[in-house]
Amino acid sequence: MEIKNPRKPILYYIITVLIIVLLLNTFVFPSLLKRHITQVDYGTFLRELEQGRVSRVEVQDRQIAFIIRDERGKENIYITGRMDDPDLVNRLYKANVNFQKVIPKEASPLLDFILYWILPMFIFIGLGQFFVKRMQGKMGGIGNAMSFGKSNARIYVEAETGKTFADVAGQEEAKEALAEVVGFLNQPEKYKKIGAKVPKGVLLVGPPGTGKTLLAQAVAGESRVPFFSISGSEFVEMFVGMGAARVRDLFKQAQEKAPCIIFIDEIDTIGKKRNTGPGSNEEREQTLNQLLTEMDGFDGDKGVVILAATNRPETLDPALLRPGRFDRRVPVELPDLAGREAILKLHAQKVKLADNINLNAIARATSGASGADLANIINEGALRAVRMGREYVCQEDLEESIEVVIAGYQRKNAVISMKDKLTIAYHEIGHALVAAKLNHTAPVHKITIIPRTSGALGYTLQIDEGDRVLLNKEQALARIATYMGGRAAEELIFNTATTGAANDIEKSTKLARDMVTRYGMSEEFGMMALETINNQYLGGDSSLLVSSETAARIDAEVEKILKASYREAYSILEENKEKLHELAKYLLEKETISGEEFMKILAADS
Ligand code: ADP
Ligand code: MG
Ligand code: ZN
Repeated sequence: MEIKNPRKPILYYIITVLIIVLLLNTFVFPSLLKRHITQVDYGTFLRELEQGRVSRVEVQDRQIAFIIRDERGKENIYITGRMDDPDLVNRLYKANVNFQKVIPKEASPLLDFILYWILPMFIFIGLGQFFVKRMQGKMGGIGNAMSFGKSNARIYVEAETGKTFADVAGQEEAKEALAEVVGFLNQPEKYKKIGAKVPKGVLLVGPPGTGKTLLAQAVAGESRVPFFSISGSEFVEMFVGMGAARVRDLFKQAQEKAPCIIFIDEIDTIGKKRNTGPGSNEEREQTLNQLLTEMDGFDGDKGVVILAATNRPETLDPALLRPGRFDRRVPVELPDLAGREAILKLHAQKVKLADNINLNAIARATSGASGADLANIINEGALRAVRMGREYVCQEDLEESIEVVIAGYQRKNAVISMKDKLTIAYHEIGHALVAAKLNHTAPVHKITIIPRTSGALGYTLQIDEGDRVLLNKEQALARIATYMGGRAAEELIFNTATTGAANDIEKSTKLARDMVTRYGMSEEFGMMALETINNQYLGGDSSLLVSSETAARIDAEVEKILKASYREAYSILEENKEKLHELAKYLLEKETISGEEFMKILAADS
């Protein structure tokens, strides 16, 4: 067990120090003393004795030590071999010196045994272990192999993660579901009395950065039971079979400590669907099989709850999701407007804010941002405040940070020719004007032609009034037309096309395609599912379910929507050409204008 480990090295140190003292005692100190001892022959001793220069004599078993004081009063020690001299005592008495015979120590066989056998043995064992440990530490993976299969799950106890549910903003439903698990582990009798069974496995599912790991840490902090935490990637081992051994060891430890919680973060790294074809991963599958076996093998009543987190639930092996395994799913979704505001508030507590900060406005402007993004926005805002030499964070810092986090850093000193800048200004005003003239669009909040490192040369920020869950067909079409506004303005004014519209084209095409294949918003196909999404939470790959003829019809339908939207955007700009000129010039001069400025110019009669 890891928690006991720290004591061992201390024992080693004590032993090491003991050895050193012992060695010094036996070899170094006596020889230090010897330096001042002169060996003389027996005759010299007798002569010195008779001349009365000897002040003290000590008769030992095999030698005689004596002290002579020189003229300066300094004592010098001499030794001489002990002769079989029956007159010695007489001589000493006559010379009138202090003399004595050392009383031999009572020999203690037990003490000798301990001193000469047991202690050295311990010392050698201790030293050996000490060096093996050191070597393991240095060699990392190899060391793990030596402690074959020992799980390196960390045990968190209450105080250690320092996180509680109070550190998680929003996510009320997830918190509720987890609070129940915590409640069961803390007071199992209460649940048993009614006969309620607590799920064996709880799977936290949601996009990256929504606070799944944070929630698990909060559970550790809230519950007063041991918490074993391991990340799926830690199972990926050097040697085949190690992952499985780790799983076995983890569950063994957990069952000894029940009631307790096991948390497997990023379970998709080991829990991917098994396949038998080429490219199957033996090691991972062994690990997964072991996990399944262990989950079946223990009795939920013992009080071991397994928590896991993933942002790719669809890649998990179905066997993991069967009843008796991860039978409870807790969605951890991207925060809604209220959730975003709560998260911003929570993280804003850590920084000094100006009095007039409006976090609600920031929350409105960040639809689709995750908890991690929002935490990042607050931090970036604080960094900007420092750069600006302020002692508190103001609204502008946060607004700027939205764009930093969402669109990359500002690139003020990037060299852009005046002509390009003019084109970009018309392009952005094109978006804004179409958005303003159409119904079903979100109001324009900010327009800027300051480039970002993300590659965006300009940026039109629209902010929804409320939080939008559903998008209707009119809104979707208006959004596509707004994307088209950029290129349409370029065509109208400069009679040419630039590469600046690449991102708009991509986004509008995706939306138009989704309208046809997923949302049932086209007349041609209506409510027909033509596509499935594989990576629900990573916005990833989708695959067509249709024949190539149908695929061609889909393409034609998408093209129809895009062309119609483009025509609409173009005609709006054509009708408002004067305003387009006026606004573009204004933007070119100011570089960044607010939604209010934009609306004011738009509303003024010219
Ligand atoms: P996940 O595991 O879902 O990818 P994390 O738990 O690692 O996300 O979240 C990363 C960071 O984002 C957290 O440490 C926290 O600072 C912040 N965060 C995310 N969601 C929340 C939330 N609901 N409340 C407060 N902070 C959050
Ligand atoms: Mg995580
Ligand atoms: Zn654009």
